[in-house]
This record gives sequence, structure tokens and C-alpha cells, in this order.
Amino acid sequence: MKAIILLGAPGAGKGTLAEGVRSATGYIHVSTGDMLRAAIKGGTPTGLEAKAWMDKGELVPDDVILRLVSERLAQGQATDQYMFDGFPRTLEQARRLDDTLGRLGGHVDQVFLLEVPTPVIVSRLSGRRICKSCGAVYHVTNIPPTVEGVCDHCGGPLYQRPDDSEATVLNRLDVYLRQTASLIEFYDTKGLLVRINAGTTPQDATAELLSKLA
Ligand code: ADP
Ligand code: ZN
Repeated sequence: MKAIILLGAPGAGKGTLAEGVRSATGYIHVSTGDMLRAAIKGGTPTGLEAKAWMDKGELVPDDVILRLVSERLAQGQATDQYMFDGFPRTLEQARRLDDTLGRLGGHVDQVFLLEVPTPVIVSRLSGRRICKSCGAVYHVTNIPPTVEGVCDHCGGPLYQRPDDSEATVLNRLDVYLRQTASLIEFYDTKGLLVRINAGTTPQDATAELLSKLA
């Protein structure tokens, strides 16, 4: 079981990049944010618990996240290649991911740090729109759909995530610096960190990542 991680601030483009990498490789995209939003939509107990944290821009408790990820990996095959997006987000999650992968005979292969200047991040998040049906990501000016408000892929309606409002965006950036940025050193020390310039276009960032994928 191989695993790579996309690490970076909210708005760094993890979801968009993951889509590009997924379509060019065999990696299975695992986004804890998407899993949580699906749980909220489905009205599950996990979804109810997660929603309060997500609406404030705070992290969902580690136990909830680890349970979701472990359940997902337990359904997989030994030959699967996973690409984690938005996970791990704390040192505790990173350590427990190592344990979980270890039990399944796997390990983390590479960690891609998506580097983007903060002003770019704020503009990206506040302009972000997402397809309600298929999850495709757009931006009002950077990646506009052909028809305003309508998904190019499936025709579904586009919406703004509740946590992409400006106040919540600033809190999410703060949470990233306080709780997630320490993972940069954690993985750099292990020799797994690969830096990607993600402040350009999705195409360039995806190409750079694919060229550095071992
Ligand atoms: P972004 O990276 O743009 O913030 P995500 O979809 O990855 O978007 O995350 C949205 C929210 O979901 C986070 O603000 C947090 O509340 C919750 N979340 C997602 N992944 C995790 C995680 N690994 N640990 C804790 N909370 C998470
Ligand atoms: Zn769609």
C-alpha cells in the first residue's frame, strides 16, 4: 500500500491538484474534507459532530478523522496507491497514519508541500465555487465554468462552501499555522518533503508534482 500526501494551507489547491494527479496516475484520492461533507449531507452521527467544527473553521477531533480514514483504508487492497488531501492535519494524525499504514504493510512515500503566498490564498478561497453534484472545483475569475453557476462536467449547480466566508477563511489560515504547519518539519526530517510552487496555475503545479512523483 503506497501513500502520498498533499500538504498545504487551505486554498493551496490540494483538491484541484489531486484531481489532476488522479487522472494522470492510478492514485486513489482520499479527501477527509470531502468525506466529512458527505457525512454531513448524509446526516450521519459523524457528520453531525463534524459540522459544528467545520462551520467555525476549526479542526474536527483527531479520533473522528482517524476512524474515517481507517475505515476507508480497510476497504482497500494491498496494491492500492493513496493520495491524501487535507490529511494528516495534526502531528497526532500523522503519527497515527504511520501506525495504520504500517499495520496494512504500507508507509508514506512522499509528502508534497504546496507553497502559495497568503494573499493569493485568501483570494482563491473567497472566489471558490464547488459543484454540488460532483465536487469539481471552480473559481469565479481564475477557473470560471463555461456557463456561470453551472458545472462543466456534470451540469450540477455550483455553490460557495459555508466555511469560505472571509472571517472563517482567516480562522482556517490561523488554524493551519498553529496546528498543521508543524507537519512540514516532521516530514522534512524524515526526508519525505517535496516542495511544489502552487502559486501559479493548476496546470503548472500539477506538471511540477507529476515530474517529482517517484
Ligand atoms: P481546506 O483544505 O480548503 O480547508 P478541506 O475540505 O480539506 O478544505 O477541510 C475543510 C474542513 O474540514 C476543515 O476546516 C476542518 O474543519 C475539516 N477537516 C478536514 N480534514 C480534516 C482533518 N484531517 N483533521 C481535522 N479536520 C479536518
Ligand atoms: Zn459537477
